[in-house]
Amino acid sequence: MAMKKIGVLTTGGDAPGMNAAIRAVVRTSLNYGLEVTGIERGFRGLYERSFIKLTSRSVSGIINRAGTFLKTVRFPDFKEYEVRKACYENLKEEGIEGLAVIGGDGSANGAYRLYNDFGFPVVLIPASIDNDLYGTDFTIGFDTAVNTAISAIDNIRDTATSHNRTFVIEVMGREKGNLALEVAVACGAEIVIIPEIKISNEKVVHLLKEQEEKGKESSIIILAEGAGKADDLTAFLQRELPEREIRYSVLGYIQRGGTPTYLTRVLATRFGVAAVDLLVKGQYPYMIGIKGNELVHIPLGEVISKQKPISDAYLEIVSRMAI
Ligand code: ADP
Repeated sequence: MAMKKIGVLTTGGDAPGMNAAIRAVVRTSLNYGLEVTGIERGFRGLYERSFIKLTSRSVSGIINRAGTFLKTVRFPDFKEYEVRKACYENLKEEGIEGLAVIGGDGSANGAYRLYNDFGFPVVLIPASIDNDLYGTDFTIGFDTAVNTAISAIDNIRDTATSHNRTFVIEVMGREKGNLALEVAVACGAEIVIIPEIKISNEKVVHLLKEQEEKGKESSIIILAEGAGKADDLTAFLQRELPEREIRYSVLGYIQRGGTPTYLTRVLATRFGVAAVDLLVKGQYPYMIGIKGNELVHIPLGEVISKQKPISDAYLEIVSRMAI
C-alpha cells in the first residue's frame, strides 16, 4: 500500500541550510500527496511526541534563514534501546511511515538504529558545518560556514599585516579538520593544525622561523578546536618568539549562523527532494550525498562505519602556498 505520511526532523549540531532542506522535504512530500509531520527538537521530540502538521505555508520564507525552525537538541538517551522503542511506537501511532533525518554523523547513527532495530524506513540528509560524513563530497551548511569564517579571517588579516602580527585562529572542528583545512586554503593561511595531523608546538615555531627567513612578517595559523587551544598555543609561541607580536582569535559560534550561501541552499533543496523520492520508492536506509555534481545515495550502514579521509592534496597546497 502506498505511503501516506512522512516525518521530518533536524538533530545534532545545527547547520545553515537545515531550513531549506525541511522546506524541500515538505513540498516534495506534498507534491506526492503525502502528509508531513514535523518533529520538533530532533529525537527528543520523537520521544516526547512533539509533532506538528506541516503545510506548504509552514515552510514559507525560511529558505534564506540559517538554523532550523524545528529546533534541535542533543538527546543522548536515544542510545538506549528502550527509548528508541518508545520513539518507534510514537512514530507508528502518529501514522508516520518514513522519516527524513536531517543532521550530522551522530544523527546518522541514530537514524540507522531506528532502521536496524525496527526496520523503520529512514533516509539521512547530511547537514553539518564539519563536512565529515563518509560518502558525500559536501554536507549542507559547510560552504556557508567556510564563507563566514573566511570573511572574519580576512578582517583579521588586515590588522595582522598592518602590525606584522602573527595570528592563531581557532575554528570549529572537535574531531575532524575538514572545515579548518578548507578555511586554511581559502584564506591563504600559512599553517594549519587539525586533529588528524597534529603538529607539535615546536614544529610550529620552526615553521614560523623558516617563513620569517623568507621575509614573511605576518602569518595566519588556523587551528581546529580539536587539535588544541588557541590561547595555549599563542602563549607557547610568544614565549619562544618574544620579539613577535602573537595574538589569537576564537571564531566560535559565528560559524554556525549567517545567511545560507547559494550553494548551501541549492544543495539542501536537491538533498531534500532526493530524500523524499527515495522514501516514496521504498528505498532505505540511505544517506543522500553528492559526488562531483551528481546526487548519489549510500547505504547508511556504510556511512556510519567508514571515515571520510582528510585531503592530503589540501594539506600539501597549504604548505606549497606558504613560501
Ligand atoms: P551530529 O549529528 O551533528 O553529529 P550528535 O553527535 O549530537 O550530532 O548526534 C545527534 C543525535 O543523534 C544525538 O543527540 C543522539 O540523539 C543521536 N545519536 C548520536 N549517536 C547515537 C548512537 N550511537 N545511537 C543512537 N543515537 C545516537
